[in-house]
Amino acid sequence: MRPVVFLDRDGTINEEIGYITKITDLQLIAGAGQAIKRLNDANIAAILITNQTGAARGYYDETHIQALNNRLVSLLKAESAHLDALYYCPHLADGIIPYLSIKCDCRKPEPGLVLQAYKDNSDLDSQRAYVVGDKATDVELAHNCNAKGILVKTGYGNDVLQGKYQHPVTADFTAENIIEAIDWIIRDLSKN
Ligand SMILES: [Mg+2]
Ligand SMILES: [Zn+2]
Repeated sequence: MRPVVFLDRDGTINEEIGYITKITDLQLIAGAGQAIKRLNDANIAAILITNQTGAARGYYDETHIQALNNRLVSLLKAESAHLDALYYCPHLADGIIPYLSIKCDCRKPEPGLVLQAYKDNSDLDSQRAYVVGDKATDVELAHNCNAKGILVKTGYGNDVLQGKYQHPVTADFTAENIIEAIDWIIRDLSKN
């Protein structure tokens, strides 16, 4: 069984720039590729779990979400890193595109996508699971699925810590960025 790290996308792996309409505007946070490669090399599963409401809001088609994820995969590949699986929630209860505008059980902090990942990948060890993200809702996802939650200060992370975005949350660890987050996870796993 492999330990697993569920990674947020925007503000965690790639720079937070709001809704990304132009594919090439998606850019990795410096060092993110090497950090994910450390997980790959340590046989720790790296799985993307992301809320993507741009399609539900009518900013672009759902296929654009997949195109952005493909861009992410290719940028990581250029750094010899990979994600073991990618999951996204395209839903928003009060969106404007009817088929996506539903109250679902997969929008973070709801644990639907994590549960799906466990269902699809029987080698994941849910007792050694982590969530890394830049929002309070990422840390809440961790606690909703019995994982450890790491808040990164990139993206919205600093604003969350200063009380300017979402709401206060108690993370298991607060990291400068994904590099420090993954470093902490690898050390935490070595203790057990
Ligand atoms: Mg984020
Ligand atoms: Zn959903």
